[in-house]
Amino acid sequence: MEKKVYEFSVYIGRFQPFHLGHLQSIKFALKYSKKLIIILGGAYSSPSPRGPWNITQRIEMIRSCLTTLEKKKVFFVGIRDRLYCEEKWIQNVQGEVFKITNSESNIAIIGHQKDSSSYYLKIFPQWKFLETGNFKQINATDIRKIYFLKKDLPRIKELVPKSILNYLTKYSKSDDYNFLKNKFKYIEKNKDSFFNENVTNVLIFCNQYILLLKSKETLKEGLYSLPEANNFNKDFESNALEYLQYEVRINIDKEYFSKSYVSSEFFNYSDRFPLGKQISKTYLFILKSDNLPVISKARNSSEVIWILLDDLSFLENKMYSDHYQIIQKFKKNFY
Ligand code: NAD
Repeated sequence: MEKKVYEFSVYIGRFQPFHLGHLQSIKFALKYSKKLIIILGGAYSSPSPRGPWNITQRIEMIRSCLTTLEKKKVFFVGIRDRLYCEEKWIQNVQGEVFKITNSESNIAIIGHQKDSSSYYLKIFPQWKFLETGNFKQINATDIRKIYFLKKDLPRIKELVPKSILNYLTKYSKSDDYNFLKNKFKYIEKNKDSFFNENVTNVLIFCNQYILLLKSKETLKEGLYSLPEANNFNKDFESNALEYLQYEVRINIDKEYFSKSYVSSEFFNYSDRFPLGKQISKTYLFILKSDNLPVISKARNSSEVIWILLDDLSFLENKMYSDHYQIIQKFKKNFY
């Protein structure tokens, strides 16, 4: 029997979906360590073209590929992305690993440095990094495209374990599949005509409530988002209500609204928009009013709501792109 060098390995990924390269890495980890902790990123994010499956579905998919013995050695942890708070994400990963390993320090982190997005493999100096190598150049992004755009299951069969193919075959008959298929088609159709168009978003806070809407835009469909306007505009603070007129109507004095402006920040997470690079400049307005202003939907929206900030976590897996993360970044202003 082979000597295990490490007590634990840590393996971080999205596994959207789990493929033969990932399976090979699990085998690699269990060759060099007694136990393996799989950390699944994007734990409470909404389904999207980049991450169609939730944490329960992904754990089910991975477990279906493991032997009975392997299942006993593998721990699963879901971790939410902290796109604009790297330090918190690192602490979260370390904390969850510590809860499983206790005082054990003989730990490796495994993975493949495929591109600059793999930088996170080198930010845990307390764990020895083990490069798994690339297995047959299999790539989850390609699999998602083949699956959602062409539903080419025979091609996918060559790229994923058999039980994943079974899962994907079943899932391809679901409403969730069709919901995402529409978004994939939209991306395919529009990606060549997109030229880095930036946007302005608005976070409106009043008496512990924030304003969200459901947009009719294909990529945002079914999800809650912050009101949005095209491009960056120098006079946005003073004319915000006009810029937002197709997203939401707010029954409030224009001048009073512009005086409620507090601050703005840029949000530039590279994968925040599937058609290309799109930066958001988000403006915070804090209204000091006894009552919530009356709001109504406009041309681009099918629903507008005031949601209590404390209840926002219930909507986390229904929020568009990084909007939940953007709100977190402004939270310090609310207390
Ligand atoms: P992934 O599922 O794409 O890949 C998981 C691992 O498998 C990676 O090491 C990858 O290189 C490797 N791999 C992929 N194809 C392979 C192949 N053919 N052969 C061998 N290995 C292969 O996951 P990912 O996107 O790298 O996951 C990182 C997660 O960590 C994401 O959820 C990300 O959001 C999260 N993260 C979050 C923060 C933050 O919130 N601040 C920071 C860093 C990372």
